[in-house]
Amino acid sequence: MWDKDRSWTLEAYRAHGGYEGLAKATTLTTDELVGAVKASGLRGRGGAGFPTGLKWSFLPAPDGGPRYLVVNADESEPGTCKDIPTLMANPHALIEGIAITSRAIGCDHAFVYLRGETAHVYRRLLAAVREAREAGLLDTGFGLDGAQSLSITAHAGAGAYICGEETALLDSLEGRRGHPRLKPPFPAVAGLYARPTVVNNVESICQVPGIFRHSPEWYASMGTERSSGHGLFSVSGHVRRPGQFEAPFGITMRELIDMAGGIREGHELKFWTPGGSSTPLFTADELDVPLDYESIVGAGSMLATRALQVFDDTVSVVRVVTRWVEFYQHESCGKCTPCREGTYWMRQILERLEAGRGLPGDVEKLESITDSIGGRSFCAFGDAAITPVRSGIARFRSEFEAGYTTAARELFPYAASSVV
Ligand code: NAD
Repeated sequence: MWDKDRSWTLEAYRAHGGYEGLAKATTLTTDELVGAVKASGLRGRGGAGFPTGLKWSFLPAPDGGPRYLVVNADESEPGTCKDIPTLMANPHALIEGIAITSRAIGCDHAFVYLRGETAHVYRRLLAAVREAREAGLLDTGFGLDGAQSLSITAHAGAGAYICGEETALLDSLEGRRGHPRLKPPFPAVAGLYARPTVVNNVESICQVPGIFRHSPEWYASMGTERSSGHGLFSVSGHVRRPGQFEAPFGITMRELIDMAGGIREGHELKFWTPGGSSTPLFTADELDVPLDYESIVGAGSMLATRALQVFDDTVSVVRVVTRWVEFYQHESCGKCTPCREGTYWMRQILERLEAGRGLPGDVEKLESITDSIGGRSFCAFGDAAITPVRSGIARFRSEFEAGYTTAARELFPYAASSVV
């Protein structure tokens, strides 16, 4: 669809089967809609892989008050670039998915929370919502009685990584500073304005139309038994042709690197990330791990956002990990001490190791700080921030220890590491 002329228009989307899923969904009851998504095996694409149909079924019984759908389009994980291109190329897939999901959960007001920096995406989405509304696609069939029209509000945040965490996102959407809330209660029970709310990632909702246009069985026939369907794999870094690759779950990194044209001429793979900066550093040893939710856990990671960043032999691990930790330190919301203080101290130590001015015991001190953050922070942010540090040291300890005497730029000059 992405390669079609003016793919973002209603006309192009319809010419390729767009809104056929919604037409089929209008003949089904809410229970049948939720049941079909459960049967498809669709799992959340924001990172955690929580079963989508199950999440919808957690909404309490209707009590006459509103229930909301909130689409998380606050894509921020370093290396992750799937939702924004999807919205630019194919915004109607999201709108059709929102319409079907809203029918399934009895909602007549859906929200899309976008990164504030992406004004072009915001404009494209609004134009597509206008097209869908003018075509009468959002006129009726929504709300608890199935008789309402559907409102879609696009909200641009102010560009904070933590606002991708679903409860911080809800706080931000309500007009407050984006800080994570204690869970439970999960948003399904008390979400936006303390009402039952489904929060789903852009890619999750974009998968919904296909399930109805074809069938849940069609969807479940792709991928693996417990990670069904297909997804976007974002390959970036030192490959010849970086880009988005749509593939069934279970594909391996070796296959994806082949599809991306291989590692750049004259170099070898040094390490890669399976799901952005919040996942461990993998090496050539893991190239054949199937990229599905279960196999990757067996290899010691999460699939997360499938942000597959490739680094070749010209790259300093210390430099990369330092850049990521600088990001986490900057983005820590400051609500809890382990994350706020811990990321600050990790940054201090890593910056001096990168500069070749490490103090005796710095590597051990880094490890001990990760122990004080891991499992002790208020939300998943802290665990994410320590993952590249821990796995970087575990796999490339000597490079960190070289930072007692030698700057990373001397061992790995910048010019050699840039992408050609
Ligand atoms: P989580 O496992 O706590 O929750 C996942 C989803 O399932 C949430 O919507 C949650 O409300 C729901 N859920 C879980 N248990 C539930 C229950 N018992 N009842 C009802 N609902 C339940 O994960 P998380 O902390 O929300 O997210 C972590 C993930 O976010 C990581 O995998 C990471 O990769 C990803 N992430 C993505 C980005 C991005 O840019 N897309 C950025 C940072 C992190």
